[in-house]
Amino acid sequence: MTVHQIPNTQNLDAFWMPFTANRQFKAEPRLIASAEGMYYTTVDGRKVIDASAGLWCVNAGHGRREIADAVSRQLMTLDYAPSFQIGHPIAFDFAERLAAIAPRGLDRVFFTNSGSESVDTALKIALAYQRSAGQPTRTRLIGRERGYHGVGFGGMSVGGIVNNRRAFATHLPGVDHLGHTHDLARNAFSRGQPAHGAELADDVERLVALHGAETIAAVIVEPVAGSTGVLIPPKGYLQRLRALCDKHGILLIFDEVITGFGRLGAPFAADYFGVTPDLIASAKGITNGSVPMGAVFASRKVHDALMVGPASQIELFHGYTYSAHPVACAAGLATLEIYQKEKLLTRGAALTEYWQDAMHSLRSLPNVIDVRAIGLVAGIEMSPRKDAAGARAYELMVDCFNRGLVLRSTGDTVAMSPPLIVERSHIDDIVGILGDALKRVA
Ligand code: PMP
Repeated sequence: MTVHQIPNTQNLDAFWMPFTANRQFKAEPRLIASAEGMYYTTVDGRKVIDASAGLWCVNAGHGRREIADAVSRQLMTLDYAPSFQIGHPIAFDFAERLAAIAPRGLDRVFFTNSGSESVDTALKIALAYQRSAGQPTRTRLIGRERGYHGVGFGGMSVGGIVNNRRAFATHLPGVDHLGHTHDLARNAFSRGQPAHGAELADDVERLVALHGAETIAAVIVEPVAGSTGVLIPPKGYLQRLRALCDKHGILLIFDEVITGFGRLGAPFAADYFGVTPDLIASAKGITNGSVPMGAVFASRKVHDALMVGPASQIELFHGYTYSAHPVACAAGLATLEIYQKEKLLTRGAALTEYWQDAMHSLRSLPNVIDVRAIGLVAGIEMSPRKDAAGARAYELMVDCFNRGLVLRSTGDTVAMSPPLIVERSHIDDIVGILGDALKRVA
């Protein structure tokens, strides 16, 4: 394997890194040279365990030869062909295979290239659906505080993270937000789903009273909010949200960019929680992170409402040059084959007790104010430092990296979502390193 060695003199200036404090990072870079299975190797040859599955995406572990072979075969067979007005078989094959594992009834698949594109696509499909269903006044989109839905204008606007919007000073009009469900006073250290807070879904009624149901097209939520610190929905909350959306003729969109493809121990969070949305936005695990791709799953109701008018007419004026890119489809098919052969989409169900025990064993360490774990994802929240919110988790992340563990810091929480091939011994290692780091950062 060729490893690109980074000489000390390497100039890091040109690459403007996304979602990174560039100047801080470049003063003290953390650089990965290669990866295999559960581990990265840094440019200076250190092995570090990847407790983040890349960015919540490398669900089958790193360096899967089956995917690499499928990608290189596809590049030499059909490197590119459009999906506008012409097609290629692998796109139809992959969509059919995805439809077979999708939650009940969501068997129409629109391909994108990222989570952000999937979110914006799902929002646009929801708007087009309402118009086509004779409800053209339903143009309002409802997100939720502390939601993350990517960085497109749609996703940024329905997202509930102030920092992601503030710098740009404007966003989509006609957007509003439900209150978030994070409630440390009632639910700190809950195991799995918190007991309290199903009634927070009734916030839909507040927005209906404020705006009128006839103005609302869709509600979008992450079933488990990932990027804002692994916020797990209270028991009954998603069921109530579904019932209220039905009551008011509002579409429900799940952003399963993180929770899709086995993260909770079921193929999708919709399966795990037993709540079926009208649309699912997905990405990340769809190709094991190997090639950029996303997919929106739509119900027959939504899809069929748009398949009207003359057959010669384009039904949805939307799509990307790289929608259903043949190389991404090949990567996705190979990924799905691994998931199915190794039963990875449900593997988390058997491991989650061990995972949760391990995470909750950290509860009494200094500064830990909450432990949240479900499926194979977890967040450890720390009390904010008075002078700098988020600094403690960032410092913990850096310390863990230096000790051989990659996790993510987000606000005052460190988040973990290991590849679904994780073994108990890896979980022991993750908790061992994290525990030591927590003691040191204190
Ligand atoms: N939605 C959710 C829930 C996500 O976690 C992310 C990415 N972390 C996105 C959307 C955006 O995905 P991408 O970065 O691929 O555009």
